Amino acid sequence: MAKTIIVGAGINGLLLGALLVREGDEVLVFEKSRRTGGRAFLLEKDGFVVDYGIHLTRFGPQSALAAILKSVGHEVRFRKLGVSYVHDGGKMKIFPTSPGGIFKSELFSIGEKLRILRLLVAIKRGKYDDLMDVSLGEWMREHGVDGGIRTYFELVSASVMVCPFVEKASAGELFRNLRKVLVTGHSAEYPVGGWEPIHRALVDIISAHGSIVTGTKVESLVFSGNRAGGVKAGGRIHRADRVVINAPVQQAVSLIPAKLLAPGYAALCKQLVPTSGVFVDAAIDSTVSPLDGLIYTTKPAAYGCITSNLSPGLAPEGKQLLTMFYPTSREDIRNRTIAAKRKKELWAAVLRCLPGIEKHLLWKRECALDMIDGVQVNVDQTGDKRPGVRVPGLEGVFLVGDSVSAPGAGGDVGNESVLAAFRAITGKSL
Ligand SMILES: Cc1cc2nc3c(=O)[nH]c(=O)nc-3n(C[C@H](O)[C@H](O)[C@H](O)COP(=O)(O)OP(=O)(O)OC[C@H]3O[C@@H](n4cnc5c(N)ncnc54)[C@H](O)[C@@H]3O)c2cc1C
Repeated sequence: MAKTIIVGAGINGLLLGALLVREGDEVLVFEKSRRTGGRAFLLEKDGFVVDYGIHLTRFGPQSALAAILKSVGHEVRFRKLGVSYVHDGGKMKIFPTSPGGIFKSELFSIGEKLRILRLLVAIKRGKYDDLMDVSLGEWMREHGVDGGIRTYFELVSASVMVCPFVEKASAGELFRNLRKVLVTGHSAEYPVGGWEPIHRALVDIISAHGSIVTGTKVESLVFSGNRAGGVKAGGRIHRADRVVINAPVQQAVSLIPAKLLAPGYAALCKQLVPTSGVFVDAAIDSTVSPLDGLIYTTKPAAYGCITSNLSPGLAPEGKQLLTMFYPTSREDIRNRTIAAKRKKELWAAVLRCLPGIEKHLLWKRECALDMIDGVQVNVDQTGDKRPGVRVPGLEGVFLVGDSVSAPGAGGDVGNESVLAAFRAITGKSL
């Protein structure tokens, strides 16, 4: 039986841990904070179960997450979203998530409806997949995209890529995402029952054949030559056959002695820019809206949903839980004055979409975070430009998480990295 140490109990560390347990490994997870879940942790307050910001899974049952959960014996159903809307020009307009929605949406003129359909057909056929190094802004200029179609792509970039900066977002990655949506018929979806049962199942699977030690920070990895043989944590050395680091690669690299790293590798990891933004969760004392799709706003480019309409158990009966997210730059978030302004802009946008909500507000949680996803999939940071699951020149050490080189954007990068790390460790695919 091989022994694996995992540094970090984020969702991707837990997913990989559960897969390795199913392979017969003994798994020991060290988590520096007092709780598991990392950036996908859950807050329970006054009967509300609140995700850390909006937490949808791209492609639902066709996602890497679904495949992993099925493989560890915890199959999850996903709930498709209902009709989505965008608050634009003082009105709520249908935000299309299907060709039918395009014809119903007031976001586009008649001519734009026909044009965007042609573009989506070309995207579905893979015509634009190879534009990884071309920004969405550049592509829109080249194709004369403006008006409602431009607004549509800007919002898709803000939500799918978590990157509202069209001059940075990779057009190729965005189109690959859209193509998968069009081919599979599955867009962003929410796990039926929410995230709590998923966390609990993963913790239980690992705990049955290993353990999760919270409140213990790994100080460094220990090596024998170029092979990782364990970690230093809690003042002692813990031996293992291999070590997986789940901390974002920007931090992970500091756990490996610099002298063992290939030239330029530490810099490559540390300079990766994450996605950033502000979010607000609002607990509401009554049923204020039946909306069960995404709610977008154009000014600012923000989006969210009434999570309790997707999974009723997340709010006490007769109450609702709303979450809205406004992606912005890391510089904005690091400047306290600007971050506070972004929070105000987001709340003002919420009030425009759902007027009257304020008088039903029980409480709200507002956060500004400089890391939402480990990496912004922009033209400088597409998968081929990021570190892989193996560390060059070293044996027995693997990286897993949402800044590693893996397909997709946002959170699915992390879930895809679990598949890649599992393949690298066991030689098997799911
Ligand atoms: C507000 C918000 C909204 C989001 N919305 C979505 C969404 O809608 N869809 C989506 O797909 N994704 C979304 N994401 C992204 C998603 O949450 C992340 O991709 C995912 O949680 C990352 O998980 P991870 O396991 O890779 O990393 P992390 O969650 O960062 O886990 C790493 C863990 O390692 C621990 N750690 C670090 N260093 C050490 C050490 N030295 N010793 C021990 N432990 C250590 C950390 O404490 C942490 O628990 C969102 C994120 C946020 C913050």
